[in-house]
Amino acid sequence: MHDILRLDPSLCLIGPNWTAPASGQTLQLTNPSTGAPLARIARGQQADIDAAVTAAYAARAGAWGGMTATERGRILTRIGQIVLTRVDDLARLEALDVGKPLSQGRADAIALARYMEFYGGAADKVMGETIPYLDGYTVYTLREPHGVTGHIVPWNYPMQIIGRSVGAALAMGNACVLKPAEEACLTALAFSAIAMEAGLPPGALNIVPGIGAEAGAALSAHPGIQHLSFTGSVATGRLIQTAAAQNLVPVTLELGGKSPQLVFDDADLDRALPFLVNAGIQNAGQTCSAASRILVQRGVYAQVRDLMAARYAALRVGPAEADLNLGPLISARQKSIVESFLAQGYDLPIAAQGKIAPDAPTGGHYIAPTLFADVPPSHPLAQKEIFGPVQVLIPFTDEAEALAIANGTPYGLVASVWTRDGGRQMRLARAVRSGQVFVNNYGAGGGVELPFGGTGHSGHGREKGLESLYGFSQLKTVAAWHG
Ligand code: NAD
Repeated sequence: MHDILRLDPSLCLIGPNWTAPASGQTLQLTNPSTGAPLARIARGQQADIDAAVTAAYAARAGAWGGMTATERGRILTRIGQIVLTRVDDLARLEALDVGKPLSQGRADAIALARYMEFYGGAADKVMGETIPYLDGYTVYTLREPHGVTGHIVPWNYPMQIIGRSVGAALAMGNACVLKPAEEACLTALAFSAIAMEAGLPPGALNIVPGIGAEAGAALSAHPGIQHLSFTGSVATGRLIQTAAAQNLVPVTLELGGKSPQLVFDDADLDRALPFLVNAGIQNAGQTCSAASRILVQRGVYAQVRDLMAARYAALRVGPAEADLNLGPLISARQKSIVESFLAQGYDLPIAAQGKIAPDAPTGGHYIAPTLFADVPPSHPLAQKEIFGPVQVLIPFTDEAEALAIANGTPYGLVASVWTRDGGRQMRLARAVRSGQVFVNNYGAGGGVELPFGGTGHSGHGREKGLESLYGFSQLKTVAAWHG
């Protein structure tokens, strides 16, 4: 494992140095596929966050702050190129750490490279504008970095989330302090090492692993942090926004979801079927944008239920290296959360379940994917984010009812509409309360280019796409009077 990582995982990166946390303490990572110990990581705390913020300020005042946008873009592009040469290593690391089937780990590593290429190419194409004003004035705007940005990421897609948030922040010239999740942070460390190898000046990216309530809280409350990007749970999002309010800094919150797919009688079911299932079970359902609610018009309801059930029955769960449809859940805790949700479905028909491979290690956190049918929209399984491989089928009669159900949770992250009716596509794309709406597809193949984020309890602010560059910068207006 150390060979893949090419560094000691128990260290933080602060400025130019891989260094032990000030307390000398470490945390144990376990392999979700086996439950066996995997590596010890740093238990960063306030002192380490303080040092990382100081290093980030030094980078802004030094080589990093002095670079042109083109030079920053070249470095990001180079990071992407190195990532591409290590896709297999990174996928294996993610498989060990997150329990992700190898092919999904590969897809995440390729997405990380894409973020670096995309933001590398965009770095010197973010422009201000001139504004017509009074006689004798020239007015223009400048896009400037916030300065030092904090990034708190979860364990489910470390590479993708680091790519979209740190990538965009660096492109705009911010210096970053990254706090990866305590459950999985090996690819975050590997990414930081690759960034240094690509020539990123020391201090432009600092990484302090640790527990949320310690390193995470210290980072979000730090008075030197000028923008916070958080991806994780609603409960932690509230704490982060509260901390940001104390320092009056902007915050981007990417939280959870209960994303619906709306399937109408006239939908192309052959095309829809793989999307309906895959968007629910990808990463064992531990995906913020998981399509956990499948709303189906009554004319095709029985057909869709049976077709999805057949796919579910063929799903196989096993260790990450076996590269089956699903790997394990991240932890015993996450498994027991999902099991308690399944228990709440005692009153619902189960349309189908996948199977755990008989040779899956007994210590792994495996759970059979489960499709519930005939679920009332108000049922807890249709309202609460489960973060596991569980989907619910909800029948509806007409467009108005479909819309009411789709908008009937506090969340609003992603939705899709499956219909051949162009008018309905356009009406629902506007009316569904959601940060992204897909028409006759779902997720659009990763979508590095597509602005992403939520409304309501799914959060606010946008990452991915060019939009993210605006979030990681602030606008300055210059009004010059020259007579
Ligand atoms: P979490 O909120 O517990 O942890 C996420 C990160 O926040 C981790 O790095 C953790 O250490 C840190 N953290 C925890 N407590 C903290 C605190 N008090 N102060 C500062 N940081 C703290 O979430 P999780 O259990 O790791 O992830 C699951 C949740 O994340 C789900 O609800 C899921 O929907 C959401 N999620 C959302 C997206 C998205 O893009 N919208 C992506 C992935 C996950």
